Amino acid sequence: MKAIINGKIVLEGATVSGMTLLFDDKIQAFETSTAPANADTVIDAKGRYVLPGLVDMHIHGYLGEDASDGKAEGIRTMARGIAKNGVTSWLPTTMTVSYPELEAAFEAISQVKAESEKPGFDGAQIMGVNAEGPFINAARKGAQAGEHIKPCDPEFIDKHAGLIRVFTVAPEVKGNMAAIRRIHKEHPEILISMGHTNAIYDEAEKAVRAGVRHVTHLFNAQTGLHHRDPGVVGCALSENRLTTELIADTFHVNKALFKMVSELKKDKLVLITDCTRAGGMPDGEYSLGGQPIFVKGIECRLADGTIAGSVLRLNEAIRNVRQNVKRLSLHKIVRMASLNPAIAIGIDKAKGSIAVGKDADFCFADEDMNISRTILRGETIYNAEV
Ligand SMILES: [Zn+2]
Repeated sequence: MKAIINGKIVLEGATVSGMTLLFDDKIQAFETSTAPANADTVIDAKGRYVLPGLVDMHIHGYLGEDASDGKAEGIRTMARGIAKNGVTSWLPTTMTVSYPELEAAFEAISQVKAESEKPGFDGAQIMGVNAEGPFINAARKGAQAGEHIKPCDPEFIDKHAGLIRVFTVAPEVKGNMAAIRRIHKEHPEILISMGHTNAIYDEAEKAVRAGVRHVTHLFNAQTGLHHRDPGVVGCALSENRLTTELIADTFHVNKALFKMVSELKKDKLVLITDCTRAGGMPDGEYSLGGQPIFVKGIECRLADGTIAGSVLRLNEAIRNVRQNVKRLSLHKIVRMASLNPAIAIGIDKAKGSIAVGKDADFCFADEDMNISRTILRGETIYNAEV
């Protein structure tokens, strides 16, 4: 048995001090004593926050690697890299590329997923794939490659149903609504997200009735909110069945909206990074889905200026929301990057919060959300102090 002492433990409903957290590979108990008799390893959190391991359900790349590359070593590098940002569960996220490229990417991800489920893996655990495209609308492709866009293909989803946890679809494209209905009926465990879409409000509402339950990066690459034409954003903000992603880097979405969105969506809001291979790297030129991107500070753009993913880290997203939504408790913000995505992708029995019986996935953070230690299933996979 192991113990964490001297931490401010961020639980689902509160942050508590003066408690000791006992765990092996799973969380066993909370105790009030500070010197647990039955622990053979005692980890001193030194007054830092003990957060649940973070869950990033939408991330393309990190440290020069990209989930669409089809390289297992690249996926391992990403898994180790994002563990330093407190992430313990993630969905490698593919772009709109050709089917052979997608299938090569799925194969590499499956291989590392199996490795990440075994003891001794030193990076964040892979929980499946997020396929952002190719079933999108060319008119809202953003930084996705237009030539590989296809109508929604239920047979492709059937074939990869064991791996795909989420996929993005534009419901207004001809034939896609029927495909959504079929996929939702046959694979209710797969989260269907609308995104890169030109749907008007009525089409978005119809999509929810057909089985859409999530919105890919709210505000970006979708119809905006107008009082006579509420669009996908209006549907996302008013429809309780929808969880919505937010890229809280203060660039994709103005920080003035963080408060409104968090108040409207509450526990249905999910912080994501949408990070590209430029994440964790210096400014310069990189690529995304086969196209060159240019990175300066927090901005990633195509040559024509189109916004192209981010360089955001998930711990920074928590910090950004915390700095801009003053009265929101830390546990509610942390939930947006842990339990809320875990529920959305159906992994919350084992992941997403610090609760007895769940996997012992934690990270230690200071007031600015700098991560100093990450623990996966009871094993330290990152420690800034050694
Ligand atoms: Zn993305």
